Amino acid sequence: MSEQCIFCKIVNKEIPAEIVYEDDSVVAFLDIRPVSKGHTLVVPKKHSNDFLSTEDDVLEALIPEIKKIGAAVMKAVGAHGMNISTNHGAAAGQVVFHLHFHLIPRFSNDNLMPWPHGDSEPKNRQELAEEIKKLLA
Ligand code: 5GP
Ligand code: ZN
Repeated sequence: MSEQCIFCKIVNKEIPAEIVYEDDSVVAFLDIRPVSKGHTLVVPKKHSNDFLSTEDDVLEALIPEIKKIGAAVMKAVGAHGMNISTNHGAAAGQVVFHLHFHLIPRFSNDNLMPWPHGDSEPKNRQELAEEIKKLLA
């Protein structure tokens, strides 16, 4: 628990939220500024700042929860698809530093533009792949 953390406060029921699911390890609630109807946040009860600093066992428990909650959210709003994501770090748009996954229901022709893709040269891709492979070896 981090004292100033807004999501810890939601987990501890110190501030209100539209909680849609709760068990021993997670809380899921509706996003206060939804990207689309049904936008839900899935939050581990145990505080960690972000994805990479979260213990493996917390992450392992989280994936099936996201699957279960995501299926219900999609059904509730009649979504055709869903973006499942976490923003890691301020540069990636993270604002609340308590790990959370966004479940963003998507609808055909909802006009939520996906990220723009760029081009890449095969040589640059190969060099970059080698660099990442080295770090993972
Ligand atoms: P981030 O940008 O950190 O990945 O996402 C934080 C999300 O939390 C945003 O989508 C924002 O709308 C949501 N949020 C921030 N404060 C609150 C709050 O007090 N209650 C709820 N329900 N959502 C919040
Ligand atoms: Zn927290």
